Amino acid sequence: MQGNPTDIARQLLAIESLLGSAEFVPAKRNPLPTLDIPAPAQAPAQAQAGPGENLSPEQKAHALAELDAKEIRGCKKCPLSKTRTHTVFGEVNPNADLVFVGEAPGADEDASGRPFVGRAGELLTKMIHAMGLTRDDVFICNTVKCRPPNNRPPAGEEADACWDYLVRQLQIIQPRVIVTLGNPASKGLLMTKIGITKLRGNWQQLPDIGPGLAGIAVMPTFHPAYVLRNYSPDTRGKVWSDLQAVMARLGLTLPKQNGQPTKTAEHE
Ligand code: URA
Ligand code: SF4
Repeated sequence: MQGNPTDIARQLLAIESLLGSAEFVPAKRNPLPTLDIPAPAQAPAQAQAGPGENLSPEQKAHALAELDAKEIRGCKKCPLSKTRTHTVFGEVNPNADLVFVGEAPGADEDASGRPFVGRAGELLTKMIHAMGLTRDDVFICNTVKCRPPNNRPPAGEEADACWDYLVRQLQIIQPRVIVTLGNPASKGLLMTKIGITKLRGNWQQLPDIGPGLAGIAVMPTFHPAYVLRNYSPDTRGKVWSDLQAVMARLGLTLPKQNGQPTKTAEHE
């Protein structure tokens, strides 16, 4: 943590508000002070136009809904189809600048068909609110769309079978930043063997995993379930610092008291 005592106090307050205090404050009443954030970095050059490149928000919503209804909901490409209750496509904003990619649905997600609605999801929602955003502003999904039995990590064949759906979701949405949560999402999307402890906190670029996707900025961070298991100031501070880097890149500042989240960079 850097800066003068006032800055440090502010950052501690911000960390506390992110992950520490018992009471959760909705984004619209987020009391955090505005932090000094550097100008957003240049948008990365993208190698090739992708399928979502010139789609309007309505067209993106339609393309995502079709992918869900026509392919994913009835998918039997891997054995997880036999044990799932619901597929979990992802939600909410088809035109999001920011996409979070987790590992796989758990019991609550399998029961509801929605991503990150259990305990880890509560923490992810807090993280999003601490950034001055709501779940409606972002898109949240997973590397695989069906729950692995007993919450085991997805097997290689399962992740491979489901891979194309994630690529196509990202191609439609065309986010400016992807936050990968934990090892499976980070190693999978970045096609690396380097673990999350080394990767996190450092900007990465999406490899050429499909037209229009190479070069998208990726920030790997700890999975909220890991944070819950290792609920230390150190872990929480690291996640908050990663999220602050994302905010800087997106031109987001924390709202002033009683203010609305400020967005200075609009999605094109
Ligand atoms: N953990 C994940 O990785 N994804 C979810 O949707 C829920 C918990
Ligand atoms: Fe299909 Fe993916 Fe579910 Fe496997 S995990 S059945 S590939 S949607």
